Amino acid sequence: MRLLLVEDEKDLAQAICITLRNRNYIVDWAEDGKIAWDYLETINNYVVAIIDWMLPNLSGLELCKIMRQHNYHLPVIILTARSSIADRVIGLDAGADDYLNKPFGMEELLARVRALQRRSPVFQSTNLQVGSLLLNYDKFTMQNINELNKNSIVLTAKEFQLLEYFMQHPGQILSQDQIRLRLWDLSDDCVSNVVAAQVRLLRRKLVECNYPDAIQTIRGLGYRLNI
Ligand code: CA
Repeated sequence: MRLLLVEDEKDLAQAICITLRNRNYIVDWAEDGKIAWDYLETINNYVVAIIDWMLPNLSGLELCKIMRQHNYHLPVIILTARSSIADRVIGLDAGADDYLNKPFGMEELLARVRALQRRSPVFQSTNLQVGSLLLNYDKFTMQNINELNKNSIVLTAKEFQLLEYFMQHPGQILSQDQIRLRLWDLSDDCVSNVVAAQVRLLRRKLVECNYPDAIQTIRGLGYRLNI
């Protein structure tokens, strides 16, 4: 799942990024509201945005207001040192869904992200199913429900994200660029064969589930899930 973090304090932003990435989130970090807006117009699968109130150029509240005016419905957590009730009201009126006072514990931030991601328009329920292939969001596993033993195969974060992307677009060709944009942070300096390598790893797991040809290579175009 992909998150947008908008925070101008570098140390705090890095600490948040590390925490979230350790929990298998993809995180795009924007240092100010303007960069964040560019990201929002480029990436369409954020599940939650974590936005600092005090930012250079465009404040967190202004960003939040603009998002709502443009019908971006993704849930927003506002980070701030301002804790008065009046400030909270201003934040919620701007369209924020939650409010976290600095300093905060990372476990609390994670809990609030989890609570909000369930409300996100792009969040899937516990399972995603295409044909007999079942992807479980709680356990990070996949399963072939036609197999007698129905063994669940545990996936790594990237394998999971890749399979999820394919399963959200069954039968559709996904290009290497689309996959790279979807699976890796915008700051990641990916080597050119990273997508092909990840597809290879996922194919191996799919073979274990008795799907030997589930991901087809479409020469010059990309890959397609064929279950
Ligand atoms: Ca700030």
